[in-house]
Amino acid sequence: MPSPRKSRDPKTLRPATVLVHGGSLRSQFDETSEAMFLTQGYLYDTMEIAEARFKGEAPGFIYSRFSNPTVAMFEQRMALLEGAQAARATASGMAAVTAALMGQVKAGDHVVAARALFGSCLYVVEELLPRFGVETTLVDGADLDAWAKAMRPNTRTAFLESPTNPTLEVIDIAAVAQIVHKGGATLVVDNAFASPMTQKPLALGADCTVYSATKHIDGQGRTLGGVILASEAFIATHIHNFLRQTGPCLSPFNAWVMLKSLETMPVRVAAQQRSAERIAQYLSVHPRVKRVFYPGRADHPQYEIAAKQMSGGGTMLAFEILGGKKEAFAFANALSIIGISNNLGDAKSLITHPETTTHQRLKPEQRAALGIGPGLLRLSVGLEDVEDLCEDLARALG
Ligand SMILES: *Cc1c(COP(=O)(O)O)cnc(C)c1O
Repeated sequence: MPSPRKSRDPKTLRPATVLVHGGSLRSQFDETSEAMFLTQGYLYDTMEIAEARFKGEAPGFIYSRFSNPTVAMFEQRMALLEGAQAARATASGMAAVTAALMGQVKAGDHVVAARALFGSCLYVVEELLPRFGVETTLVDGADLDAWAKAMRPNTRTAFLESPTNPTLEVIDIAAVAQIVHKGGATLVVDNAFASPMTQKPLALGADCTVYSATKHIDGQGRTLGGVILASEAFIATHIHNFLRQTGPCLSPFNAWVMLKSLETMPVRVAAQQRSAERIAQYLSVHPRVKRVFYPGRADHPQYEIAAKQMSGGGTMLAFEILGGKKEAFAFANALSIIGISNNLGDAKSLITHPETTTHQRLKPEQRAALGIGPGLLRLSVGLEDVEDLCEDLARALG
């Protein structure tokens, strides 16, 4: 009998390999594809084993609000990809953001955040935290002095997205991490726009990375999910009990969808990024386009920072067309392949008009400060043939 095949330490494997093999828990049936464990609970052979598991003295699962084998595989695969010690999956990206922030603070604490945030994140920072006695300060994320000035002795954590939604402004994550750490606080980065393939906030000095797995991780527009990545100590202190007791757990079905999606994520995101570069170039020379915002282009205001902290420009771009709302609507209505939707990171290319949708609730002066005008459109580039996408854009631009 030959000796059993050895398995490699997953920490020594490259990302694409980790995304196919990392974190797999094989059942007694030796399945090749990861199993979906649709179960709420787990049996214990004896009362003694139940007692030991509850005490944390024996390994094993207890209840699927706490953990589940399919969810654990997804968490482990994400942790290996990010080089994080620990990961926790959540029911949505917003559950991840809310837990990462609320898990760290108590009444009397202070939070600093960049002003350009995903709408629901802005709600958590601006409205929800203050209701529980947590003060918040919003700053211009690109202004490092503003971060330094906003820090107070009771600042517990700082929060940012980069690139931002929808104008794809890039914030220097390493520089903000330094400022925040000097003030004794932690940094949480929402990395949904960049995707795990183009940016690694933990490696840049962030203490915690959060994802809406709904976006590039699922990548095919099916299920919602989120994930929180950090050190063992961060998860144990701030996240573990918060998630267990409040219950925003990821369903095993959705975890299975995400787990299988991770296998193809490097191929998908690379192709989408190539197409985004090409489309950004195409739009930048079109006479009806005033301006293109794409972090992978040398004309992006923070191109140097993007080049330093991202491995590419990403799959998202924004552009302003000449005219205003009327021209923007007529253009988007004339598209036949690119769909009108506020979602992003999908295999299908999707376009949205931030002023009237995702950022509708902001005051006009808030929108102006973020550079969201009536001619601005945000495009999430999908997996279609880029020639078809360019033709679609060309036809609609007339
Ligand atoms: C989509 C998104 C979220 C929220 O994620 P859900 O899965 O929809 O809850 C948070 N932050 C960013 C940057 C996003 O794009």
